[in-house]
Amino acid sequence: MSSSAHHVPRGGKPADPGSEFRHPLPRLTSRVFTDLAIWMTGLGLVMGVVFPFFVMALGVPSRYVLSASFFIATVGAGLVVGVTNHLLSRAVVGSRLRFMSSKMGAVETTLRDALVSTDADECTPEKCSIVVDSDDELGDAAASFNHLVEALAESHRATNLAGRFATTLSSHIEITPLVEAALGVLHGAGDYDASALCILREDELVTVASEGIANPTELASSELVQRAYRTLETIAVDLPTDIDLDGGVVTFRPRSVVAFALHVRFVPIGVVVLASTQPIADRQVQGIQPLLPNFAVALNNALSHERVQRVAAIDTLTGLYNRRFGMERLSQEFSRSVRSQEPLGVLLFDIDHFKTVNDTHGHQAGDAVLRSIAHAVKRVLREGDTLMRYGGEEFLAVLPGAGEADVRGLGERIRRVVESTVTNDANVVVHVTVSIGAVSFPSADVADLDDLIRKADGAMYDAKQAGRNRLTFVDV
Ligand code: GH3
Ligand code: MG
Ligand code: MG
Repeated sequence: MSSSAHHVPRGGKPADPGSEFRHPLPRLTSRVFTDLAIWMTGLGLVMGVVFPFFVMALGVPSRYVLSASFFIATVGAGLVVGVTNHLLSRAVVGSRLRFMSSKMGAVETTLRDALVSTDADECTPEKCSIVVDSDDELGDAAASFNHLVEALAESHRATNLAGRFATTLSSHIEITPLVEAALGVLHGAGDYDASALCILREDELVTVASEGIANPTELASSELVQRAYRTLETIAVDLPTDIDLDGGVVTFRPRSVVAFALHVRFVPIGVVVLASTQPIADRQVQGIQPLLPNFAVALNNALSHERVQRVAAIDTLTGLYNRRFGMERLSQEFSRSVRSQEPLGVLLFDIDHFKTVNDTHGHQAGDAVLRSIAHAVKRVLREGDTLMRYGGEEFLAVLPGAGEADVRGLGERIRRVVESTVTNDANVVVHVTVSIGAVSFPSADVADLDDLIRKADGAMYDAKQAGRNRLTFVDV
């Protein structure tokens, strides 16, 4: 419990409007007992007045009964019984009510502390409920109070979750961290055993994040996910047959799975899947539902961002990185290489006599050649290498970790693969070759990034001069 929690001093001046309603019980109690005292004393009085006539009806002669002293005695006895009844009920019921009132006060303090500390879970049933120890109106009052506290704690948990979720969504713009963080919050919110998100990528639903699902790839094509995506509905299934949970060594079937459709203005974005080995209650589903519209919007923004990034980085003709993005990568790799003294290789190559290709076969055939060369060279490179379209028919490959031998080897493979690539465009068959300038840092004496490129460019020029379709390596 938070020690910084503030609560209103009991019995003190109300701190905010409405707080005078905070402890209505003692005041209500005294009103009830005043009413009770009036009623019981009055009843005693009436009984005292009526009693002599009742005694007469039983056959006692009126001369004994209709006397002032008998009246005074019966009225006095009636009053004593009334007052005694009132005192007894006050002692018995009043002590129960006082006990309940003090317990309610303690629960209220705990609840307020829990709310201020933003952790409604601190309000456990032991701490935040009063004992229901009688099967009467007082017991009912205690039970109602407990339900009220539960509802309050639950509503606080929901508000809390919505706040945390909104913060999570606004903290990320890239898809992967956004999705992982958001699923983490949803996953924890209902204590689920597994969660996943499927979104539409290139006209196909694919699982982009999953936790605890044994078959995430197949999940996207499961009937449940497909149906939720198509209908935009939330679908709960008990004992599904096509979803397995990852139990470490073994896989097992979940007891319940719920698929929530994500959409923005009825355009489907994806499907969130939550699975549990326990039955998932409607209440849990309803707790998640209000969070989904914001999730869908955030996801949509992240997807748009990804598309914009992609458009900004990719050359549309070849599908390679464009010069702007590729040079940023080269700059990062060069800085890393300077720091770590790990080698960095660069290959700059240019198609030989490309103008002739355009002049002979047309510009479209030239474009087809650029595409097929880009495709062929990409397949030769290793993971982690970057290939960019450096200019019209010039390409640059960034090869992190490539020393002299690697650069020579990769350059030669590129030269050969281009030489053997046949571009067949609208029945026009084109062969081209490339001239390559190769350099590896730090074995080559390079002052800075510009110098690195200048040296590669110079080597490429030398290769052209030496007869084309060859590689020239900068070895100083
Ligand atoms: P070299 O062997 O000396 O490199 O000769 P080259 O003909 O390749 O050199 P040059 O620089 O004279 O010609 C390059 C040509 O590349 C000119 C230009 O029309 C063509 N080109 C540049 N970008 C594109 C493109 O996107 N598509 C097509 N089809 N051609 C392009
Ligand atoms: Mg050329
Ligand atoms: Mg050129």
